[in-house]
Formats: sequence, structure tokens, C-alpha cells
Amino acid sequence: MSKLACQCGYVMVVHTMEEDFLYDLIPQKDMAALFTKWDEIGGKFDSESFFSEYNQFRTDVYKCPECGRLLVEDPLGSNRFSYYIKETK
Ligand SMILES: [Zn+2]
Repeated sequence: MSKLACQCGYVMVVHTMEEDFLYDLIPQKDMAALFTKWDEIGGKFDSESFFSEYNQFRTDVYKCPECGRLLVEDPLGSNRFSYYIKETK
């Protein structure tokens, strides 16, 4: 179980990895390369193979359910987060 506190004070607790506040940030070029590799390997490319490749370039993102801030792991694999809040006019 991991947890991450937002700047607003809300604490996001991860129990199952299926929480609605969990997202991945993925460079499109890396996703395209992954699909190309999947096409080349075919049926031998199972879900375990997919996630092994996928986890190399995805970035953890939490979206705070209380204030809407995005908390983006930066740099990748550091377990440190940058905070982004929606600009309003
Ligand atoms: Zn928040």
C-alpha cells in the first residue's frame, strides 16, 4: 500500500492499483514503438511481455479527487512528484 498527499491536504491511498485517481503518462512515440514491437512478435507477446516493456517508459500520475491537481512523478522512477493545478480565468 502506498499513499501520496496532495498540496490541498487530501491523501490518496493505493490499495488495489485500480483506484480512479491513478493514471499513466506515456510518450506517444514510445507507445507507437511498443505497438510496432507487438506486431513483429505477434502471439508470443503476452500481457506480461507488454507490461514489462510498458513499465520502462510510463510515468505515474495521480489526479487528486479533491482539487483536481495532477501529481506527476518527475523524474521517472524517482518517487518524487511535481504538482500541476488547472489554470482558470
Ligand atoms: Zn488536491
